[in-house]
Amino acid sequence: MRTGCLIVISGPSGAGKGTVCSEFLRACPEVAYSISATTRAPREGERDGVNYYFLDRAAFERMIADGELLEWAEVYGNYYGTPLKKIQEKLASGTDILLEIDTQGALNVMKKFPQGIFIFILPPSLEELEKRLRGRGTDSEEVVARRMAAAAGEIAVAKEYAYTVVNDKVENAVRTISAIVTAAHARTGSNLDKIEELVKGKEA
Ligand code: 5GP
Repeated sequence: MRTGCLIVISGPSGAGKGTVCSEFLRACPEVAYSISATTRAPREGERDGVNYYFLDRAAFERMIADGELLEWAEVYGNYYGTPLKKIQEKLASGTDILLEIDTQGALNVMKKFPQGIFIFILPPSLEELEKRLRGRGTDSEEVVARRMAAAAGEIAVAKEYAYTVVNDKVENAVRTISAIVTAAHARTGSNLDKIEELVKGKEA
């Protein structure tokens, strides 16, 4: 059996990575989603255990201390982190798993899982990025300004990713991501067990 692929998607907020990820998961229901832990307050419509595990700082710091997180980072003053156990379980059972995390977290995951698929979602332009941030209507003017100020620095980190996908249209971005994942399944390194099985069959 082949082990699952770890798919990591990052991008500046407003690039549309949330929509791209949920549409990708709808198109590929066999891919699992890694639900992150966070100390930020839920936005309207967000549910605990679905969008995030919403924790207080003490509970989050306990998870760090107990080694329960694959990675964690402080983003805009809140903690965010990826629970390790589910990742290990899914990969071992041959299931692909998607992580939507920030660049600091992704750079740490690159060190631990260099065989992962690292994809950076780019906005078509900075104007479009700002338009999308405002259009969301969930963040204050101050938050939008803070996120725009951080965007250029975040986009520079895209160079560290193996793949960059411009989110001009969600369906195009989803199609490109699906193609990247399909190609990763065909990597020889993903099929060593299969090769071994066939070689052994011939020898027997
Ligand atoms: P938001 O508050 O808009 O849901 O997310 C803010 C940022 O935190 C986004 O860039 C998102 O990708 C990132 N993020 C969400 N979960 C995690 C996580 O588990 N680890 C890290 N490092 N970043 C995360």
